[in-house]
Amino acid sequence: MNLFRQIPKVDKLLKNKNLQDIPENVLLYSIHSVLNELREKIKNNKIDKIDENKIINEIEKKACGILSPSLINVINATGVTIHTNLGRSLIDEEIFDEAKKVSTHYCNLEYDLDKGKRGDRYHHSAKHLSFLFGCEDALVVNNNAAAVFLILNTFAKDKEVIVSRGELVEIGGSFRVPEVMKASGVKLVEVGTTNKTKPKDYEEAINENTAMLMKVHKSNYTIEGFSEEVYIDEIVNLSRKHNLLDYYDLGSAYIPKLPYGLSNAEPSINDIMKFLPSLISFSGDKLFGGVQAGIILGKKELINKLKKNQILRMFRVDKITLSLIQATTLAYIKKEYEKIPTLRQIFASIDELKNRAKKILSLTPALRANIKESKTYVGGGTMPNKAIPTVVIEIEGNAVNWEKKFREKLVIGRIENEHFVLDVRTIQDDEIEKLANIINKLISCEVKR
Ligand SMILES: *Cc1c(COP(=O)(O)O)cnc(C)c1O
Repeated sequence: MNLFRQIPKVDKLLKNKNLQDIPENVLLYSIHSVLNELREKIKNNKIDKIDENKIINEIEKKACGILSPSLINVINATGVTIHTNLGRSLIDEEIFDEAKKVSTHYCNLEYDLDKGKRGDRYHHSAKHLSFLFGCEDALVVNNNAAAVFLILNTFAKDKEVIVSRGELVEIGGSFRVPEVMKASGVKLVEVGTTNKTKPKDYEEAINENTAMLMKVHKSNYTIEGFSEEVYIDEIVNLSRKHNLLDYYDLGSAYIPKLPYGLSNAEPSINDIMKFLPSLISFSGDKLFGGVQAGIILGKKELINKLKKNQILRMFRVDKITLSLIQATTLAYIKKEYEKIPTLRQIFASIDELKNRAKKILSLTPALRANIKESKTYVGGGTMPNKAIPTVVIEIEGNAVNWEKKFREKLVIGRIENEHFVLDVRTIQDDEIEKLANIINKLISCEVKR
């Protein structure tokens, strides 16, 4: 019997009444794709009969795969607030509403309402950022990587930039400082050693080709023990003395004093701005707690030069980013820190977290679990080695199994001391009911087995 001849005809499948809800282009693609797989199986003697219902099911599944969105929500129960894999900082609904208003209607993005002609898109965010950080001017680009590239390319192309060996870091997602520098056309001059760099090391490397002294935040690692770094005030002084530019790639910037001693680990951006660095840049979606962006602060004359670089066009941000940065910056100016979800999560007290955990357990009476205190990290390459206290729901049973089951239901937790735990620091209040429903369903499946 020839199985190939029994393969259902495409025309017939297209008319199948169970497949009529699928858009025609998707249906046709799915049919061809399932039939091709079927022919492959027949060729390799993997099947001995044709089951039309099974084929129809597979076509439905294939179409469903094409039609369902790929970027979807998960519940972050890892405890890591700035989780780069899970979207870094969250945007507050109220702040998002502002951006929605601006973006769903026409706006004065590049239109000067006073003069009635073309305006500057970058002027919008710059006004508030300059006020907030007490600097002359500001520029928002696509992300901090773009900020680094743009600054180096504008001010040091074909020239030398001096950086400490201890700061030639790789940030997650293979952003390597030396490679970005090379790509931007500057010559990297490494000074000092991995653990120690002194002002003298910078000074000795300065020559007529030097354009800039650069400092890079170490982000995701720390050097402990016998170590020494050159602080930004010394870099600023040195560059002034030698008539050079100084630039600090700060990576992440925080404004209000942080709890749990985090502020002792490193200075706030306002403390750094007091030294009047020529240029500084940081990410919009790390501790600043906004949308993905690279925020550049500095002297007006330097920002103007950045704006004249053709490459800026490639790093240009949309109105949605500009309006989100604007709303976030305004919240900071008004000291409405509760509007910054990243800060809300970091500031949540242990009592608050215990109440959240208790609420989850009260909604899931059949769950065998305990509430425990534990430690977590802020994440996103900020505050490395700085554990902060947190509260977890520790679930009894096989940790690896639970991790997988929860992940299949789009809840991402972590394994700790051979237990699967849900860290409540990053669980949003409006996710509690949904999470409880997921847990209750998972337990009822367990019981049935
Ligand atoms: C995170 C980080 C970057 C990259 O910033 P993105 O906004 O992710 O592009 C660059 N430099 C430092 C020091 C960082 O910490």
